[in-house]
Amino acid sequence: MAKRVLNNGPKVQKEKTIVAEMIHIYCRKKHHQEELCADCLDLKNYAHKRLSSCRFGEEKSACSNCRIHCYKPEYREKIKSIMRFSGPRMLFHHPFYSIKHLLNKG
Ligand SMILES: [Zn+2]
Repeated sequence: MAKRVLNNGPKVQKEKTIVAEMIHIYCRKKHHQEELCADCLDLKNYAHKRLSSCRFGEEKSACSNCRIHCYKPEYREKIKSIMRFSGPRMLFHHPFYSIKHLLNKG
């Protein structure tokens, strides 16, 4: 049985950082937690797992543009509202991140 290699490249690492930061902003503002609440932690772990096993690896485009919907519907809805909420705030706090890439609508 072939063991699947997990993505560990710089692009995937950076997207993990961005998605974690977005979930943090959302949880702080919406759930009033300093640390991630259980739901948000679960979502973060899920998002990181999806990125690790994204079949495009370092060649990946923005998740929102991807033809392969690898998120389960419940998680997809959550992450969509988090990106809508935190995306513009990320631009303000972290102008050096290429958030445009993530928010790109196909
Ligand atoms: Zn939360």
